[in-house]
Amino acid sequence: MGRAFVYVILGGGVAAGYAALEFSKRGIHHGELCIISEESVAPYERPALSKGYLLPEAPARLPSFHTCIGAGEKRLTLKWYKEHGIELILGTKVKSADVNRKTLITSNGETISYKILIVATGARALKLEEFGVRGSDAENVCYLRNLNDANRLVDVMKTFTGGNAVVIGGGYIGMECAAALVTNRIKVTMVFPEAHCMARLFTPKIADFYEDYYESKGVNFIKGTVLTSFENDSEGKVTAVILRDGTRVPTDMVVVGIGIRANTSLFENQLTLEKGGIKVNTRMQTSNTSIYAVGDVASFPVKLFSSDIRRLEHVDSARKTARHAVSAIMNPNSTGDFDYLPFFYSRVFTLSWQFYGDNVGDVVHYGDFSSGRFGAYWVNKGRMIGAFLEGGTKEEYEAIAKAVKLKMTVKDMGEFERQGIEFALKG
Ligand code: FAD
Ligand code: NDP
Repeated sequence: MGRAFVYVILGGGVAAGYAALEFSKRGIHHGELCIISEESVAPYERPALSKGYLLPEAPARLPSFHTCIGAGEKRLTLKWYKEHGIELILGTKVKSADVNRKTLITSNGETISYKILIVATGARALKLEEFGVRGSDAENVCYLRNLNDANRLVDVMKTFTGGNAVVIGGGYIGMECAAALVTNRIKVTMVFPEAHCMARLFTPKIADFYEDYYESKGVNFIKGTVLTSFENDSEGKVTAVILRDGTRVPTDMVVVGIGIRANTSLFENQLTLEKGGIKVNTRMQTSNTSIYAVGDVASFPVKLFSSDIRRLEHVDSARKTARHAVSAIMNPNSTGDFDYLPFFYSRVFTLSWQFYGDNVGDVVHYGDFSSGRFGAYWVNKGRMIGAFLEGGTKEEYEAIAKAVKLKMTVKDMGEFERQGIEFALKG
């Protein structure tokens, strides 16, 4: 059995939803496009899973956060896909791909052929087992990548009142889940190998601010170490985590956020890979001209960083790479090179930060760390190439984004530091 489409989007996450909207805006015929997704629901805004979805009061639930509401666009429900003649093949995993034959084979044994394929398979959460720790399949150990994981996390939180959680990993998932657990009145211990949280992005000074804030909410940090094993009860439920130095931390549940791997395996030895993702050009086109890659799985040249190849793991990049790929497919002559300004953000408790650009070079901090309105700039070869701001206004966030995009020249580091946010606002 088999079906044929002009356009196939493989993966049904954030990038797939934004690509579908862009296809519909640019004009496709009914029956030309299909989305194949392992998940059983239409594309949704994944960031909601570690924020609104975990709230104890009035939590966000589908269909309220289907794409593409995250960019102020319309919400694409099942009805919308039906009305636009876009086939959603849900709950279906693609098991293999043949780029020469232009076919995909699904878990049901169906062959789906395409003229143009967009790979939007995203990423999977790394498992503790990959670091030699066994037992993360216990019922009260949670990962968080998709809706099923989020439902499981919510269910586990409901199995006890008050109580304790251990969060493994001090990155995005660790920080956002720890905040959500605290909001659910669960006492949290965070364990991670680095000297401070969010080590991939934060400076020690920025991290200190968030760690102090989390501590004021009752979070306990155990830094510079990893867990080596779990202690379980007779039913297999985890009752404590054991750290490298033998420390035993009793717990009612564990949340693990130790990074991701892009889902590239279908295309290994078929497409060029780089930096852990599928390498694309400035049109999101892979080494096979009929195949495009977008979102977390794509490694693309960032013009702003001298066309260095980067794989970004953030929602803004998923949305924009998806739109750009569709533009390049549908209107090749009027589509220029993808010119992207990397943008990351997070919101926890009442805090909210944004970051633009790259965090390399010399760093200066500015603002008032005690009042929670502060930031940092990164300067490389006399140009501002990265900017972080906590507690900013819309105007201030726009100003730091613009300053990084322009790579504003920094003549006097002392004066630059003294001016702080004014430097970006003055333009
Ligand atoms: P995904 O959204 O992961 O979608 C991939 C899809 O492909 C999934 O539906 C998957 O099931 C499907 N798939 C994979 N392989 C197959 C296969 N073989 N067959 C069929 N289907 C397949 N970023 C931010 O910038 N800000 C945030 O606040 C933020 N919060 C986040 C919170 C959470 C809990 C998580 C997990 C991520 C968050 N991110 C955030 C990151 C952001 O969600 C991702 O960058 C974004 O989802 C990437 O989009 P994507 O379409 O490339 O991949
Ligand atoms: P991150 O890469 O952000 O953080 C992983 C953390 O786990 C790091 O602190 C890392 O330390 C630590 N770690 C790695 N290995 C181990 C180990 N064996 N034991 C204990 N700790 C370990 O990944 P996350 O899992 O937090 O996030 C997954 C994805 O979700 C990312 O793509 C992220 O961008 C995305 N996301 C984004 C959000 C946002 O943008 N606001 C919110 C939520 C998720 P080390 O650095 O030493 O490896």
